[in-house]
Amino acid sequence: MPRYKSLATIQEDIADGLITCEHLVEYYLTRIQSTSDLNIYIEDFGEEALQRARELDEKYKENPASVGRLFGMVISLKDVLCYEGHGVTAGAKILEGFKSLFSATGVQRLLEEDAIIIGRVNCDQFAMGSTNENSHYGPTKNGLNPDKVPGGSSGASAVSVQVDTCLISLGTDTGGSVRQPAAFCGILGFKPTYGRVSRYGLLAYGSSFDQIGVLANSVEDIALTLEIMAGRDEFDSTSSSQAVPAYSEQLQFDKKVKIAYFNSALHHESLAADVKQQTLDLIEKMKIEGHTVEGVDFDLLDYMIPAYYVLTTAEASSNLSRYDGVRFGYRSPNAKNFEETYTLSRTEGFSTEVKRRIMLGTFVLSSGYYDAYYSQAQKVRRLIQEKTQAIFKDYDFILMPTSPGPAWDIGAVNDDPVAMYLADVFTVQANMVGIPAISIPLGTSDGLPIGVQLMADKFKEANLLAFSKQYV
Ligand code: GLN
Repeated sequence: MPRYKSLATIQEDIADGLITCEHLVEYYLTRIQSTSDLNIYIEDFGEEALQRARELDEKYKENPASVGRLFGMVISLKDVLCYEGHGVTAGAKILEGFKSLFSATGVQRLLEEDAIIIGRVNCDQFAMGSTNENSHYGPTKNGLNPDKVPGGSSGASAVSVQVDTCLISLGTDTGGSVRQPAAFCGILGFKPTYGRVSRYGLLAYGSSFDQIGVLANSVEDIALTLEIMAGRDEFDSTSSSQAVPAYSEQLQFDKKVKIAYFNSALHHESLAADVKQQTLDLIEKMKIEGHTVEGVDFDLLDYMIPAYYVLTTAEASSNLSRYDGVRFGYRSPNAKNFEETYTLSRTEGFSTEVKRRIMLGTFVLSSGYYDAYYSQAQKVRRLIQEKTQAIFKDYDFILMPTSPGPAWDIGAVNDDPVAMYLADVFTVQANMVGIPAISIPLGTSDGLPIGVQLMADKFKEANLLAFSKQYV
């Protein structure tokens, strides 16, 4: 079986009779087995996926025009996305044994176009983390070097695509969790505008930040997947009713654009020298191609991380209050009374990192500290939004590295949460503002992949994807 990097080539080979959906799923299942030491899948839906593949092959044989647009697309799901009748645990013990009662709207729309879900993959617990080490199921390893983290929180989503166990993966991005692991694994990672894709069926972390995103090898696959998932959903009041463009048909690009980069980002103390150099080389290349690329002053970069971690932990402390040992999943067998049912279930069911964030979020929302932290962070968010919007009055895109450096060793920052938080310095802006962003493979540093990130104004996905395609 050749290594497929886009749905179009899979569909061509099916049409030419070279492969079937069943062959493809069989192949991916053997890849899942032979890469099991990387700890990517929490569960594969092997038999069921094969059965669905056979049914789709049958449908195609009867009438090739009857199959959906995602016929031949095999997808892994981050373990925070609901798929009816299947387990979903957010990588946490507290949801052990829980099965989804419905499918996430995004997932449902892909299924309706004949996509095949091959399994659910590991992630940082409740999508909190940047390394995929913070999971009840143990760390996922980077397929290029198993001593390195794959990034997070959608780390296993990235590896599942990187080592060819599926064509694309759905992840979620609250502060970079699709883009940063994509960069660490040498693939593409895309996060849409806030509200572009319904959050219904996404286990919430920070509701005003969360979006479903796509990890893939081609812009074409991202465009088509987005086109199908996006659009108004009555189950998510924050989903936008703006018309969904045919992104996949608008990927030609011949305009000259204006791109801004932040001087403060390219001079950031955390930025590795060779990441900086390769970002500058790309900027040079873009200029030679006739684009305008200019450094602008943006003095709020160092406020991103503190504000992000105040606001997301506040939202998380509220969102995660529902996991109480009574309604979902795990209940402590050690509880001797009513109160202990809550305290022990939560104490035993959440990881240290999740508990740290619940406590931090509860603290910043508490009456004595609300104004000092939560309100203050909201004001910072507003400033960041206004300043970013002002840049988009003059520029089409903002460019910066996806992450300050390449993947680090497993265990390197595990005991130092702040060091881990700081590595998100370039990715949280897109979520603070709610704008779309993509990470594109740029080159390597220390033999490991790095990415460059492009952000666009709200609902400018078509432009962003078309422009990005030229650099893949
Ligand atoms: N690393 C960030 C965090 O830990 C981003 C997580 C995410 O986007 N889900 O919060």
